[in-house]
Amino acid sequence: YRYGEPSEVVVPTPNGPVTFGQNHPLIVVAGPCSVENEEMIVETAQVVKATGAQFLRGGAYKPRSSPYAFQGHGESALSLLATAREVTGLGIITEVMDTADLDKVAEVADVVQIGARNMQNFSLLKKAGATGKPILLKRGLSATIEEWLMAAEYILAAGNPNVILCERGIRSFDKQYTRNVLDLSVVPVLRGLTHLPIMIDPSHATGYSKFVPTMAKAAIAAGTDSLMIEVHPNPSKALSDGPQSLTPPDFVELMQELASLAQFF
Ligand code: PEP
Ligand code: MN
Repeated sequence: YRYGEPSEVVVPTPNGPVTFGQNHPLIVVAGPCSVENEEMIVETAQVVKATGAQFLRGGAYKPRSSPYAFQGHGESALSLLATAREVTGLGIITEVMDTADLDKVAEVADVVQIGARNMQNFSLLKKAGATGKPILLKRGLSATIEEWLMAAEYILAAGNPNVILCERGIRSFDKQYTRNVLDLSVVPVLRGLTHLPIMIDPSHATGYSKFVPTMAKAAIAAGTDSLMIEVHPNPSKALSDGPQSLTPPDFVELMQELASLAQFF
């Protein structure tokens, strides 16, 4: 990685190109942790679209701690994301876990997500880089900033300049009240180390929906270029990450607050 002018990651979506970058308006990515069925993903996509957010997120392949937990609906979830994209024109962000699924994921995704647990899966990084698709690279569970930037470098070195760095909280000693510790200092720190755009994910960082609005606003104050927010039509019934998912009305309210806050930054 190198110092230089802030880079722009321009992502073509059906609703038009969306630009991630330091000198561009805040970009919001929202949606459920997992794509559960057609109704919930399309309903959520419509709410996300109505708020002015630019991307729908939703997992088809889920990295779960337990092999007995819901693993995602895989290919059929990818086709539901394609449906939601068609209906709303939103860009799609979804995670790839295995190089074997890369082509299928890249066909539907406008931005391919590499999750925290795969941040140092170097063969996945190289092959994801080679697809040429914009890549959202989440920070590893306990990754140093140096390790994270070197992981990004694998994608850049594969000839793909379109990388967005996503802070999603790091492990610490106290898991009693928050799932992870949101390291917001990465925003000013990364500005001195890399030209790449930054995303902050307060949902996975805090683990609880009641903390998400506060930390989303703090992320804007810190200068983030984009946010990722989990939203579910019925969080208590979610197949993954329900406790951290906002309801649609709470997400709408947050987006109104973010719009008034963003004008100051
Ligand atoms: C996700 O975005 O749903 C996810 C699994 O995130 P992370 O890799 O940050 O845990
Ligand atoms: Mn999740």
